[in-house]
Amino acid sequence: MTRKIAVISGITGQDGAYLSKLLIDHNYQVVGLTRSYSNINKNNLKYVDVLDKVIIEECDLLDFSSIIKILLKYKPLEFYNLAAQSSVGLSFEQPIGTINYNTSTVLNILESIRLLALDTKFYQASSSEMFGSVSTLPINSSTPLHPLSPYAISKATAYWTVINYRESYGIYAVNGVLFNHESYLRSPNFFIKKVLKSSLDIKAGVQDVLKVGNVNIKRDFGYAPDYVRAMWLSLQTSKPGDYFICSGESVYLKDIIHYVFDYLNIPFDRLVEDPSLFRPTDIEDIYGDNSKAKKDLGWEYDKTFYEVLNLLIDEESANYKK
Ligand code: NDP
Repeated sequence: MTRKIAVISGITGQDGAYLSKLLIDHNYQVVGLTRSYSNINKNNLKYVDVLDKVIIEECDLLDFSSIIKILLKYKPLEFYNLAAQSSVGLSFEQPIGTINYNTSTVLNILESIRLLALDTKFYQASSSEMFGSVSTLPINSSTPLHPLSPYAISKATAYWTVINYRESYGIYAVNGVLFNHESYLRSPNFFIKKVLKSSLDIKAGVQDVLKVGNVNIKRDFGYAPDYVRAMWLSLQTSKPGDYFICSGESVYLKDIIHYVFDYLNIPFDRLVEDPSLFRPTDIEDIYGDNSKAKKDLGWEYDKTFYEVLNLLIDEESANYKK
């Protein structure tokens, strides 16, 4: 039997690594796309022990013909689009680059699948950020979109592009609307990873304080290795749809810091809230309804965030080097 081929864009990121591992365990040939082969960061793929099991291709997703070449070469059964400028904070610094990249790339891939008339199933890493300012929680399929950042605008545009290609051309295209999910492989510029790394640095005496922006806001956090399973499951159903991949609960960022400081015996006066780090706009509270993903995909998720946090603290501590 020939192996199923899956393409993952953004394979070098947090989710790319965990998804590669999951697909390889399911006997897929994984083809990973990176923007620059010469500057590739292989650490995450090494960490989950799949570097020698994936094929890496350089592909500029802004360049239509580069995508066509990949699709013609591999004719993948599944295409997971994880590549993005994924930081909300950075999107305020680079609004044009973020919106341009995160929208044009999705359109390029879908248009390539359409023009080549391939049966490739497409997964888009959509984001809860696109809901932004909400009046009713939990977020579900009837919640209106109100993006509060350039990143959120880009993800909202991509979300509707996916729905449009599904409805207009019958392409098997899925939005997996991801809420924050964490792991040891999270980029260091994201909140939880920054809190953990800085806390260990404070404990080791190489850093004095943890400087943060607005931490009086709430987010729905989950565990990345479990969330990539939902990505895969969302392409295994008979009909494509959109799914909310979330824990269903939100926690205050400040409570997370207190929990970590307490766990590591760090005095609370080492926390500094710095208004210069506040974003121009921020979501107050957000959590989603994952019942459709659980029911339709058979996705199982029952971790509380503090269970996840215990795992993260232990893994970060075990890998900590000054
Ligand atoms: P990462 O930031 O860890 O990885 C994204 C990858 O995209 C990078 O490794 C990079 O790979 C590639 N990339 C392509 N273009 C750019 C660019 N302009 N700037 C930065 N990276 C770029 O993301 P995650 O794995 O955490 O997330 C995967 C997807 O899920 C993203 O689309 C993200 O927006 C979305 N998402 C994630 C959430 C989360 O909590 N993690 C929540 C909601 C949505 P290379 O350099 O090799 O090309």
